Amino acid sequence: MKTFEVYPLFDIEPVKALGSNLWDVNGQQYLDLYGGHAVISIGHSHPYYIQKIEQQLRQIGFYSNSVKIPLQEELANKLGEQSGYPEYELFLCNSGAEANENAFKLASFHTGKKKIIAFNNSFHGRTSLAVEATDDAKICAPVNQTGNVIFLPLNEEAVLESAMNEEIGMVIIEGIQGVGGVNIPTPGFLQKIRNLCNACGAIMIVDEVQSGYGRSGKFFAHQYANIKPDLITVAKGMGNGFPVAGVLISPKFKAKHGILGTTFGGNYLACAAAIAVLDVIKKENLPEQAKQSGNELMHALKQNPLVKEVRGKGLMIGIEFDFPCHEIRKKLLFEHHIFTGSASHKNTLRILPALNITQRELAIFLEAFEKVTHSQKTIS
Ligand code: PLP
Repeated sequence: MKTFEVYPLFDIEPVKALGSNLWDVNGQQYLDLYGGHAVISIGHSHPYYIQKIEQQLRQIGFYSNSVKIPLQEELANKLGEQSGYPEYELFLCNSGAEANENAFKLASFHTGKKKIIAFNNSFHGRTSLAVEATDDAKICAPVNQTGNVIFLPLNEEAVLESAMNEEIGMVIIEGIQGVGGVNIPTPGFLQKIRNLCNACGAIMIVDEVQSGYGRSGKFFAHQYANIKPDLITVAKGMGNGFPVAGVLISPKFKAKHGILGTTFGGNYLACAAAIAVLDVIKKENLPEQAKQSGNELMHALKQNPLVKEVRGKGLMIGIEFDFPCHEIRKKLLFEHHIFTGSASHKNTLRILPALNITQRELAIFLEAFEKVTHSQKTIS
């Protein structure tokens, strides 16, 4: 059997990784400023993380959610404390799409309403919201698969206000849009959503799958707006590569046996990985590191004359050019051995490194970026 080929692949086979570095099968070293779609939060193969997972694997790796798993409680307590949401409850699952699907279910059970507001250029995973591959981008464009979704422009308060009514059951927004090209909702826009959801009896869901876990310089990107969503979805950086995800659920929802469920969600190994990540985030003060490194990096990038705009918070950064930047990305990878990311908006290069990437590693990237953009300028 062969694999069902849905991904365009680089001809690179990583066999080893440490911190912000990867090595391929030929021994070539790469600097990782992408972390496999923002997944690597504490660095590849962090020794504490390895130790925690190894130790757990020797004890017990899996049993179903029909028995007590105290690690789930430890994880919920630590996440509640570190994220500033101790009063919320945690439902554990396995991926970002699954976390969002569970959030949709909770919201529609709670309100009895099906209509959803989402935003242009958003990406919430392969959910019922949903997505369709576009031929050229090989990424995804939202389509209204269920017929219940209204897509609105980001940050346009008047448009939102006129679309919002008693029929809307939920509004979902990314803390910072990732795949769509690092677009940041303004604090005022998030506050407007919060107020309109309260007024119309709708649930506010913030998808922090990519922007969460310290990447933005705060634990969650929406915390820059001083609001509290009803549901927050998390994944990616939560497990640093181990598939684990969750929904943080406000006290307005009451748990009832059977309303949600999963076989693998909250398994011992996933919990051990997620606890290790939180321990490292706390010990190494990673949100603060992300904020400082991100500010310095964005400042340096803005000096480059070929760069049209730099958007971002912490280490979730989009570099925008006046032209499609796939050549720049390819040169960074194949000439300088540096991984960066693309976006559905072809002029945007995405930078999503581990939160503890070093100053030296960022300097290596900046030097390569200078060379690549300089040669691009000379060609054009
Ligand atoms: N939500 C956001 C904001 C994402 O960026 C992604 C993945 O890129 C998802 C949800 C889906 O996560 P997963 O691929 O784990 O299902």
